Amino acid sequence: MSAPATAEVTEQELREGVRELCARYPGAYWRQVDAEDAYPSEFVDAMTKAGWLAALVPEEYGGAGLGIGHAAVILEEVNRSGGNAGACHAQMYIMGTLLRHGSDEQKQRYLPGIAQGELRLQAFGVTEPDAGLDTTQIRTRARRDDDRYVVSGQKIWTSRAEHSDLMLLLARTSEPDEEHGRWYGLSTFIVDLREAPTDRLRIVPIETMLNHSTTEVFFDDLEIPVENRIGEEGMGFRYILDGMNAERILLAAECVGDGRWFLERATEHARERVVFDRPIGQNQGVAFPLAWAYARIEAADLMRRHAADLYERGEKCAPQANMAKLLAADASWEAANACLDTHGGLGFAREFDVERKFRETRLYQVAPISTNMVLAYLAQNVLGLPRSY
Ligand SMILES: Cc1cc2nc3c(=O)[nH]c(=O)nc-3n(C[C@H](O)[C@H](O)[C@H](O)COP(=O)(O)OP(=O)(O)OC[C@H]3O[C@@H](n4cnc5c(N)ncnc54)[C@H](O)[C@@H]3O)c2cc1C
Repeated sequence: MSAPATAEVTEQELREGVRELCARYPGAYWRQVDAEDAYPSEFVDAMTKAGWLAALVPEEYGGAGLGIGHAAVILEEVNRSGGNAGACHAQMYIMGTLLRHGSDEQKQRYLPGIAQGELRLQAFGVTEPDAGLDTTQIRTRARRDDDRYVVSGQKIWTSRAEHSDLMLLLARTSEPDEEHGRWYGLSTFIVDLREAPTDRLRIVPIETMLNHSTTEVFFDDLEIPVENRIGEEGMGFRYILDGMNAERILLAAECVGDGRWFLERATEHARERVVFDRPIGQNQGVAFPLAWAYARIEAADLMRRHAADLYERGEKCAPQANMAKLLAADASWEAANACLDTHGGLGFAREFDVERKFRETRLYQVAPISTNMVLAYLAQNVLGLPRSY
């Protein structure tokens, strides 16, 4: 089934469509790409061809024009099926910056190609080795030179850069000033990776505990046309922050998907595995952690839906989006541990996929934002406690 041509679609129809596609990429497929540290190109191509990754592109540009709640359901179903939406989720959350702050000309230039599956917008170059979570401290420079910018510096953890046509880049164009504050002076650009000469832009893969196609990217006087800057010069950090609520909601949905996958696997095993002459699920020591995990996943799901509703109505939703990500990442991690415990030794055997999903879901505690930073945000911005970051 392909993505619907219009925004008139029920959640159930979406779920069934994505589930049908994911069924063609079972555990064996994901185990193989994991073992080979390979990008799941066939899966991403199928998702692209079906139109699911262009869900947020407005209908006037050839996309499905769906909202964030529906996009979240698509990613949830990928993870719930045993796959890993991390291979392709960025297109959904990067899109927001282009949709909200891009010019009509930029939207016309990129969105139809993305909608048709000819252009991949999958790379997001924000994090740098020396700045860490303090994005205002990034050092990659974009120096204006007539009708172009010349970019020098380094990014780290730029995932999917080798498998994307376009990258959304955050770089410093001027120093912060007194008037605006420390977030000022950063700008956002679309970098066309297809056109970048290899001596000006070098991509170096990083080996990681999960298969995530993540890289370091080195810029050495890479030229970007001025027309590739999104929005006003110096305001880029604001644009990126805007997109972060969407990112939190989408990743919360992935965590809910993971949590549901772990619970399905764990409860099935707990019913079937017999030790001491009874199913292990009859022991409350096995059943209760699963019941807790279920309750926590359902609660996180409600917060993610609440945040998505606010987002779609254009209302402020940063606390809810952050809480959704926090609660969902914790719930999926708890479900992962309960699932591993329920499987006993079998949980460590690759063929059951539990250890792979365990590694994959662990990432959400750290990226794209760490649990500590969400807590610090809530303490400061919601509870009014002194600033700690
Ligand atoms: C597999 C993977 C894929 C990624 N993909 C991308 C990508 O595509 N694009 C991109 O731009 N980035 C990406 N990232 C980067 C990711 O967003 C960062 O790793 C994450 O934001 C944490 O930053 P850091 O690693 O620099 O940690 P640091 O900033 O070095 O922090 C280290 C630890 O200290 C804690 N800490 C720091 N300051 C405080 C404080 N004030 N209070 C409490 N605790 C604090 C943090 O919570 C964290 O646990 C990816 C990372 C990984 C691992």
